[in-house]
Amino acid sequence: MAISENINGSDIKRRNITDEFVSPDFLKLDDLLTDEQKLVRASMRDFVAKEILPIIEDCAERCIFPQDIIKKFGDVGAFGPSIPTEYGGGGLDYVSYGLIMQEIERGDSGMRSVASVQSSLVMYPIYKFGNEAQRKKYLPKLATGEMLGCFGLTEPNHGSNPSGMLTNFKDMGDHYLLNGAKMWITNSPVADIAVVWAKNEEGRIHGLIVERGMEGFTAPIIHNKWSLRASITGELVFDNVKVPKENLLPNKSGLGAPMMCLDSARYGISWGALGAAMDCFDTARRYALQRIQFEKPIASFQLIQKKLAEAYTEITKAQLLSLRVGDLMNEGKATTPMISMAKRNNVEIAINIAREMRQILGGMGITGEYPIMRHMMNLESVLTYEGTHDIHLLILGNEITGIPAFK
Ligand SMILES: Cc1cc2nc3c(=O)[nH]c(=O)nc-3n(C[C@H](O)[C@H](O)[C@H](O)COP(=O)(O)OP(=O)(O)OC[C@H]3O[C@@H](n4cnc5c(N)ncnc54)[C@H](O)[C@@H]3O)c2cc1C
Repeated sequence: MAISENINGSDIKRRNITDEFVSPDFLKLDDLLTDEQKLVRASMRDFVAKEILPIIEDCAERCIFPQDIIKKFGDVGAFGPSIPTEYGGGGLDYVSYGLIMQEIERGDSGMRSVASVQSSLVMYPIYKFGNEAQRKKYLPKLATGEMLGCFGLTEPNHGSNPSGMLTNFKDMGDHYLLNGAKMWITNSPVADIAVVWAKNEEGRIHGLIVERGMEGFTAPIIHNKWSLRASITGELVFDNVKVPKENLLPNKSGLGAPMMCLDSARYGISWGALGAAMDCFDTARRYALQRIQFEKPIASFQLIQKKLAEAYTEITKAQLLSLRVGDLMNEGKATTPMISMAKRNNVEIAINIAREMRQILGGMGITGEYPIMRHMMNLESVLTYEGTHDIHLLILGNEITGIPAFK
C-alpha cells in the first residue's frame, strides 16, 4: 500500500514482541556515562520496545508512516532534547541526545530520521538563528509534537553542492515572494512548517519558516523508496509563495547556517547508525547460538565467530568515536571534520555489519521476521543523506591537506 493511501496508520498490525536485546559494551563505556544519561537511554529503550518494535515491520513492509508516532515522540522527550527547557526542550547534553538517537535507530532509521530532523534541523535553527518571538511561537509546539517540521536544503539539481541552489526570494516591501523547489525532504508531506534555505536578490542564503497552507506551497510525496520505508519523504514546491517578513530567521545567513544544523544532525546520525549496527549484531549473536547445523549451534564455527568478533570490534571503536565527539560537542570544541569522521565511519561500519550479520541468519536473514534486512536497506539512505559517504571523505581530505577536492 502506498504511503499516500495510509499515512494515518489506522490499520497497522502490531506484533507481540519480547525485546531480548543486549547492548554491547565491551569497554565498559557505561562507566563514563552519568546517571542522567543512563536514565535517558533506558527510558528511550523502553519506548522503542513498546512503540516502535511492534509496528515497524508492518510499516516498513507496506510503506506506512505511523503518524501517531509524532505525538508519542513529543511525550517521551525525543524532540529537541538539547533545546533549553524554557522553550519546551529537554535541556540535556549532547551525549544524551546521541543516546536518544542510538535507541530510536535501534528500532528503525526512518523513525530516527523523524526525530533528527525535528530536533537538529527544525528546532535547532529556530533556536539558534530565530528571534524570541519565533522561538516562543514554534519551539514549544515542536517539542510536544503538536507541530512537525521539515528542513529544505537539497534541490533537484543541487544535492552535494547546496551553494548552487536556485530557490530564491524577493523583497516585496510588506512580504517576501518565494519561488523554487526542494527535493528529498524528510517529513515534508505531513509537516506543519518547513525551514527553507533560499537566496535573496543579492544571492545570500537565508532561512525562512514556511507554513503549511500558504498559497502556492505544496509538498508532494516521493514514492517507490526501497529504503526508510516507514519515514515519509517528499518535495517542497514554492510558486510565488507570500512569506511574511517576520518568518525570516534573522540571526545568521550564508551557507554556514544550514551547515551548522547539519553538524548537529550528522553527530546524531553517528550514534543512530550505531544503534542499527548493535541491533544487527545482537540479533545475529542470539540466532547463531540457537541455530543448529551439523549437530552444533552455528555460533561454534570459527567463521561465524570471526564475523561476530569483527562486528563487536567495529561497534566498540565506533562507540568510542561518538562518545568522544559528544564530549567535545558539550565543550563546544567539536569541528565539522570530526563530525564527518564520526558520521562516515559509523554509517559505514553499520552497513557492513548489517551485510555480514544478515549472512549469519542465512535465508531467514532476508525476511521481515528479523530486523537486519530492513536496517541494511535503511542504511543505504543514511550513507547518502546529510552529506554522502564520499563528500565526508573529502571534508576530511580538506582537513588534512587544506585542499578542497570537492570543488
Ligand atoms: C531518504 C532521504 C531523505 C533526505 N532528507 C533530506 C532532508 O530532510 N532535507 C534535505 O535538504 N535533504 C534531504 N535529503 C537529501 C540528501 O541530503 C542528498 O540526497 C545528498 O546530499 C546527496 O545529494 P544528491 O542525492 O543530489 O546526490 P549528488 O550530489 O548528485 O551526488 C551523486 C554522487 O556523486 C558524488 N559526488 C557529488 N559531488 C562530488 C564531488 N565533488 N566529488 C566526488 N563525488 C561527488 C556523491 O558522493 C554521490 O555519490 C534526503 C535524501 C534521502 C535519500
